[in-house]
Amino acid sequence: MLAVQGAVSEHAAMLAQLGHPTVLVKKPEHLANLAGLIIPGGESTAIARLAAPFGLLPAVRKGIEQGTLSVLGTCAGLILLARDVVDPGALAGFDTIGGLDVSVARNAYGNQLNSFEAHIDLPTAHNSSTRPLVAFIRAPRITSVGEAVEVIARHNGEPVAVQAPGIIGATFHPEITGDLWLHSLFVSSLPAS
Ligand code: GLN
Repeated sequence: MLAVQGAVSEHAAMLAQLGHPTVLVKKPEHLANLAGLIIPGGESTAIARLAAPFGLLPAVRKGIEQGTLSVLGTCAGLILLARDVVDPGALAGFDTIGGLDVSVARNAYGNQLNSFEAHIDLPTAHNSSTRPLVAFIRAPRITSVGEAVEVIARHNGEPVAVQAPGIIGATFHPEITGDLWLHSLFVSSLPAS
């Protein structure tokens, strides 16, 4: 887990349910020997600022580029993974991770009062009639998706989760409502340890 700010303990609880221990990553050296990293929801601007003194986000980018690290980013985590953020001002001057060929718009559903829970559609799942309940909290919207990126979840027809080699990104919080679908997908995509 990237443990700088955000829903760290909630994701760790989900991993524990799947039988996976959690390592808290606050500095680049904590990435050693890790195959997978979850970048939680929280506040992308806070994570970018707090991680900056340690060079943590460029270190994550390097692991993805080298193919040694797979990542799951949710909400703020997705924003940090996106190639392009529509309103870049808030992150200007700070390293993000990048690497996922999507554009996102921050806070695109409105403020905290416009947060909501919804069942999402999984067009690529084995059983696409399963519709996990997830929480959208000051969520971003995915405004464009690159050719090599697969949409793995939709809400009202819009992409809300995507997958590319080594990267899964979701606009929502899967850990609040407790459905293990996304964590299971991520864990099963990692090389067996
Ligand atoms: N709006 C937040 C941001 O810009 C993300 C919200 C979240 O992660 N729940 O980082």
